[in-house]
Amino acid sequence: MNISEPPIIIDTNKISIVWLDLDDTLIDFQANSLRALEKVYHLQQLSCYFASPQEWIERYHHYNSLLWKDYAPGRITREYLKMERFRMPLMEAGASLDKATALSEILDPVYLSLLGEEKQLVPGARDLLVKIKNAGLPIGILSNGFVEVQHKKIASAGMKDMIDIVVLSDDIGVNKPDVRLFQHAMKVSKEMHPERHLMIGDNPDTDIAGAIAAGWQAIHFIPNSSVNPSLLCSSTGELDRILIK
Ligand SMILES: [Mg+2]
Repeated sequence: MNISEPPIIIDTNKISIVWLDLDDTLIDFQANSLRALEKVYHLQQLSCYFASPQEWIERYHHYNSLLWKDYAPGRITREYLKMERFRMPLMEAGASLDKATALSEILDPVYLSLLGEEKQLVPGARDLLVKIKNAGLPIGILSNGFVEVQHKKIASAGMKDMIDIVVLSDDIGVNKPDVRLFQHAMKVSKEMHPERHLMIGDNPDTDIAGAIAAGWQAIHFIPNSSVNPSLLCSSTGELDRILIK
């Protein structure tokens, strides 16, 4: 913890439930995805399309991040994203449409299965969960990730016993930042006062903008940085600066 930065206090008199984003807030998605994609490269012999695992991963990430920008606001479907993030780099690398389509149908479940087995957490994640539990507050996960992999990731990372509620965008087919997903989470948790919900997440456009639009409290988690003046949320900072009173 940077001792020059003041702690971020969660007041248990004002908050009834703490919701956490999963990928890159609790789980180190970047590291886990990198390892899973490298395994995919070797298992599926992608060396005939890409000279190295690094080249494959770079082209996959290029298309995946473009597709997620369209997926979060609902401009494309999950099925389109899941297919195209593999098919686009394969076709760019010279695979025919038929070959790229057939291979993508295999790569999607293989990648998600391998990703679900990875365990790397964000520094401070487990300590934060313990602090919240010890303060007697329930913990929810609120994630845009896919239902077939998010529960597996939570179990692989050893967090299952610490999480009280898991709400996924897949549950109702609506993604963060759409307030309907936050309202759905309120119904599931049976706490209907929006200001008593706190969202902690790394993505300002989905986690934080959505929480604020729904009337929730929000903490924007920014690894290794604590300043983002453009955001209107309660606080910004690293996970280990969050204290509970
Ligand atoms: Mg995230």
